[in-house]
Amino acid sequence: MPGDGVGREVVKGATAVLEAVGQRFGHEFEFEYANIGGAAIDESNNPLPNETLKLCKQSDAVFLGAVGGPKWDSLPSHMRPERGLLAIRKELGLFANLRPVIGFHSLLHSSPLKPEIAENVNLMIVRELTGGLYFGKPSERRGENQESVVDTLQYTRKEIERIVEKAFELALIRNKKLTSVDKANVLESSRMWREIVNEKASLYPQVEVEHMYVDAAAMKLISRPKDFDVVVTENLFGDILSDEASMITGSLGMLPSASLTEDGFGLYEPVHGSAPDIAGFNKANPMAMILSAALMLKYSFNLREEAESIEQAVQEVLNAGYRTSDLQSVGSTVVGTEQMINIIVQHV
Ligand code: ATP
Ligand code: MG
Repeated sequence: MPGDGVGREVVKGATAVLEAVGQRFGHEFEFEYANIGGAAIDESNNPLPNETLKLCKQSDAVFLGAVGGPKWDSLPSHMRPERGLLAIRKELGLFANLRPVIGFHSLLHSSPLKPEIAENVNLMIVRELTGGLYFGKPSERRGENQESVVDTLQYTRKEIERIVEKAFELALIRNKKLTSVDKANVLESSRMWREIVNEKASLYPQVEVEHMYVDAAAMKLISRPKDFDVVVTENLFGDILSDEASMITGSLGMLPSASLTEDGFGLYEPVHGSAPDIAGFNKANPMAMILSAALMLKYSFNLREEAESIEQAVQEVLNAGYRTSDLQSVGSTVVGTEQMINIIVQHV
């Protein structure tokens, strides 16, 4: 689902790279395309058409570019492109959003952080994706003059348990350190979150657990990012912290993500949005989407070597000095989206 804006430009990169991986390793990937978001509204007046949902359910894995853009900004909220995104997450049960934040050495000087702080960062944000403020009801304007508003932050115990378990499992196969981020000094939902993390901690004695308030976590991500390994948090906190964390790596255009169901079905999308300010100008960095294809190979197909061939190609291209304009630094060669895709394909 290429979606809207730069989504359409970067999805081409992911499919081209997968075709190259197929040639190299002897696999054939079969692609089908469907509309979501603004493109789907234009075509069928529905941000998530039934045919799209059906096709996703019939597929082995799903790719999503990005949705939204100024063209649809004045639509009522239930008709906006972002509804399509929320609906597909909910409909497919994609509760676990994994966002690895890995600093590439050759991008150290693209990060606004001091190189010694940004160097060797390798953390994983585990964001709950189908609950919290994004889905709570009611969410509406109220009162005679509609001058009062309400959004609802709601979680069930089961929803928190499954995301926390997922995070512990990931911590076990990584560096056995888990940071749970909440706002338990203020929010009831966070107090239950903390309780559940402590309960689960007793089942994973090998994993070192720490609790952190979200405001402190925002600060520490910038001052001491290397202190983190797996970070687990609810939907809104995860959204905000991952855009922040992307800058450790130099650009939002570098961060891939995998959204998984309880059965391990996956949807893969870049952390960035449709970037309307650069859409259509052949300027978007396709690496977040291409690295999302690598996550797909790992999580949905268990093709480790193939996934590594993509990560390796991205690293080589960066080492060779190629940059999209979001990453430029002294001495680099600035290329457009299409050229960047071609160079990565050649390296694969
Ligand atoms: P969303 O609400 O969908 O998460 P957002 O508000 O986080 O979207 P983005 O669309 O991700 O916003 O864009 C934020 C900024 O990052 C913009 O200035 C955009 O140009 C830039 N950006 C996003 N993705 C890329 C990319 N792939 N390459 C270069 N710049 C990007
Ligand atoms: Mg965002």
